Amino acid sequence: MVPETTPQRGLFAYLVRNLEHTFILFILVSVTLSHLFFQFQISILNLYYIPIMLAGYLLGKRLAILYAFLIVLLVWGLILANNEIYLVLKSQLEFNMDLTLWGGFLILSGWAGSLSENLKEEFRTSNLLRKELAREKEDLKSLNERLIIVNRKLEEKIEKRTYELEQSNEQLKKLSWTDPLTQLLNRRSCEERFKNEIARFERTKEPFCVILGDLDHFKSINDTYGHNTGDYVLLQVSNILKENSRKTDMAFRWGGEEFLILLTGTELKGGLITGEKIRTKIEETVFEHNDQILPITMSLGISVYKEGQVMEDCIKEADENLYSAKQAGRNRLHPHPDY
Ligand code: GH3
Ligand code: MG
Ligand code: MG
Repeated sequence: MVPETTPQRGLFAYLVRNLEHTFILFILVSVTLSHLFFQFQISILNLYYIPIMLAGYLLGKRLAILYAFLIVLLVWGLILANNEIYLVLKSQLEFNMDLTLWGGFLILSGWAGSLSENLKEEFRTSNLLRKELAREKEDLKSLNERLIIVNRKLEEKIEKRTYELEQSNEQLKKLSWTDPLTQLLNRRSCEERFKNEIARFERTKEPFCVILGDLDHFKSINDTYGHNTGDYVLLQVSNILKENSRKTDMAFRWGGEEFLILLTGTELKGGLITGEKIRTKIEETVFEHNDQILPITMSLGISVYKEGQVMEDCIKEADENLYSAKQAGRNRLHPHPDY
């Protein structure tokens, strides 16, 4: 865990935070200074305070108190016993018997010692904290790097997924516009394109034709050779329609065995040529399936779009012509000047 705010380091910050210690230190320093420089004459003998204070400093607070107490006991013992050592000490060092001051110095020094211990501890802790912070920073950095990698992988996955989704969307769209058996555009897309063509006609007055083709006697093909053979024929006919119309023409599977061809930019004359070409191609193609030759022909009806017509009108006209082609004996395009 990284602390939210790191404590301020340094002696001053420590003293501000620990007013008790500051106070003791202040007393210790001021008493020492005043005692050394004002109360006594400055002499070499005053230096005996220094080892006393040093001893207190090194002993620490509790031991210094005990030590002061023992010294007081010892000295008072000596005094009471009127001991010789005391007399020698007194005569030689002009020993001033201010024991309270003496013990006090010891204790205050001890306090200063423990304060310095605390300070050291404080610095040690802050050092540890600093190291821990640096470690945490390193951890965070590597975590961040890992996160970046994970993020990148995630983005790649999303990109791939989006691409797949787009692909399947495309696929779905294609499915909704195409006939699964023949892969020709279906009736729905035919209606859409037809309306576009009408809109274009209204703008440009460019003519276009519609051909409706229906396979002849297709039911009997199914009945005689089976449904699979019927499907095969539908597929072959679709290919013929694709191959025999211009790039701008569009072939649709309009219903079961009915096909619609939209001939853009084409007048009746051109439409008749295309329709007839398709019819002959189907007639001439040898449809062979399961070693059987199939008699396949197509009847077709054509209409040219006329201004003001709706799609249904135009297709109806082509359908009527297809019907008349059937009536006239099938395998023909109606209306056609040659029949
Ligand atoms: P006509 O010459 O008068 O058009 O006769 P026809 O037999 O072609 O006409 P009809 O409408 O009676 O029959 C159409 C047949 O087309 C019936 C149906 O089984 C078949 N058919 C429609 N869709 C499919 C298909 O997807 N596959 C197969 N194999 N046959 C289909
Ligand atoms: Mg039909
Ligand atoms: Mg038919």
